[in-house]
Amino acid sequence: MLKALLNKLGAPGAVAIPDESWDANLTALPFIARLDGDERARLRALVGRFLAEKEMSGADGLELTAAIQVNVAMQACLPILNLGLEWYQGWVGVIVYPSEFVVQRRIVDHDSVVHEFEDALAGEAWDGGPVLLSWDDAQAPSGDGYGTSVVIHEFTHKLDMLNGEPNGQPPFDARLHAGLSRRAWQAALEEAFERFNAELDLIEAEIPADLDPESADADRYFAALPLDPYAAQEEAEFFAVSSEAFFVAPARLRDAFPEWYALLARFFRQDPLAR
Ligand SMILES: [Zn+2]
Repeated sequence: MLKALLNKLGAPGAVAIPDESWDANLTALPFIARLDGDERARLRALVGRFLAEKEMSGADGLELTAAIQVNVAMQACLPILNLGLEWYQGWVGVIVYPSEFVVQRRIVDHDSVVHEFEDALAGEAWDGGPVLLSWDDAQAPSGDGYGTSVVIHEFTHKLDMLNGEPNGQPPFDARLHAGLSRRAWQAALEEAFERFNAELDLIEAEIPADLDPESADADRYFAALPLDPYAAQEEAEFFAVSSEAFFVAPARLRDAFPEWYALLARFFRQDPLAR
């Protein structure tokens, strides 16, 4: 119903963003507040089109206020500000849960044994389907430390899925990405991913045996890393976690992986450090 109300106010094909929601979210999202006037105006127009085109719904009783919709859309649209909304084509749903949500997993192992278990998540992107988000986590992107945003994370997976299984290699557009070499991207991604894994291995070797590496007490060991340790999972996660840092707290990423940073800047066609 809120969307129907917003739609009445908007231009055709775009939802008008209430000033109150826009301003409050700019304060909440300093990495977006840093955009210059022209970028902010273009982001606002893009957010209006995003909200008109996508179907955002609240799950588990979450009341989807205008402020929530605008917050999620602002973060989701930042990576495609200079690419275009068509980069989020092929799916429409964004489902927002109040907090971490549980998905049922079913895995068949090498011995054909079926394992069923529950996974608690802050976000997930389904290939050809919706993006799922926890509002608790989505509203709290952090510019401290690594720079994190679950919204940017999941939506960059969507970019990566445009050309098949996510692998850290989104498609390039001949016009938008002229001169961006697939070979250079692959080489920089592999080099950064492998070096990051080696650094993580060293840190894990340093953690005393009697300390649970998953516990909060172990966090100080990982603090020296340039990215959230989750980036070491696979190259698709390295791209998504790098993208979070790129937009939210780019300096550390640039210092650790300057070549990779430069390629991300060419792919997204923006340079957050120049802001
Ligand atoms: Zn991920």
